[in-house]
Amino acid sequence: RAKELGRGQHHFFDAALKTRAVRKLGLDVQLRRAFERGELEVYYQPQVDIDSRRILAAEALLRWPDGEGRFVASPGEFIPLAEETGLILPLGDWVMETVCAQVGAWLAQGASPVTVSVNVSSLQFRRSDFVDRVGAALDRSGLNACHMGLELTESVLLDDVDLAIGRMEQLKEMGVQLMIDDFGTGYSSLAYLRRFPLDYLKVAQEFVAGLETNRHDAMIVGAVIALSKSLGLKIIAEGVETAGQLAYLTERRCDLIQGFYFARPLRAGDFVSLLERGPIQTPALPVRLGV
Ligand code: C2E
Ligand code: MG
Ligand code: MG
Ligand code: MG
Repeated sequence: RAKELGRGQHHFFDAALKTRAVRKLGLDVQLRRAFERGELEVYYQPQVDIDSRRILAAEALLRWPDGEGRFVASPGEFIPLAEETGLILPLGDWVMETVCAQVGAWLAQGASPVTVSVNVSSLQFRRSDFVDRVGAALDRSGLNACHMGLELTESVLLDDVDLAIGRMEQLKEMGVQLMIDDFGTGYSSLAYLRRFPLDYLKVAQEFVAGLETNRHDAMIVGAVIALSKSLGLKIIAEGVETAGQLAYLTERRCDLIQGFYFARPLRAGDFVSLLERGPIQTPALPVRLGV
């Protein structure tokens, strides 16, 4: 009986594994094709100054639309896949180029100045010519480096600390804004944190989510903000969805707020319209734009 059950389960897991593998393979082929056909899109999620409620910055987030108003897969699924296959290298270059060109165009139209940050995968960051690629993207668009941010995770930085510090110093020299993404989910020691030439820390969404319900999350966020301040870093809270979370972050003097409470990631055109409307009024948008 037990043996039968065991065998049955085996079949079940085999089938599940196979389904996953097939989906992955299919997605990989589709993703390459979508990329080659220019079907991927960069969305922009506002980062709002906590006092003035002005949009000062944004995060660039990759989207894979299916052409019918939905998405084929989320970045949470296709980015790790692209990292596995190496597609993230051309894809990451394209995101950087697209963002530089887009922000350059907005500024040329007279839009309020914004800094847009791009997520960087470890495969990209480890490339020997990574810094040159960033420089080339900026040069081609004529964008001043201060309008570009790079989001690096703790794992990217801790992979090879000395290499990371070297790269970051070069980028800093160029004037690019540097930030640690998802801070608190990795293993950065405070000693390292001090050595990295950073401009911003982004508090991980998972701690922000628990601000009103979990004492420990609230303590962590409070401590991270205090730490950032003592290191002279600015702080961005991401995943802010409620007035209660915002109130806590306001009290602790967080700098920038990113989250559905103010705005979702938006298509370029919707983002620049919102930017031009001036300070964001709460509660959020009358229409739920974006995803
Ligand atoms: P991330 O860099 O930590 O990005 C923040 C994620 O939180 C985004 O998910 C964003 O849509 C989501 N988010 C923002 N505000 C809220 C909120 O209030 N509530 C909730 N529930 N979620 C919120 P998204 O766009 O699905 O991206 C997931 C991850 O995929 C990103 O996490 C990033 O690691 C990766 N990613 C996205 N675009 C790129 C890219 O161009 N290059 C690379 N290398 N990675 C990317
Ligand atoms: Mg990010
Ligand atoms: Mg993040
Ligand atoms: Mg993340």
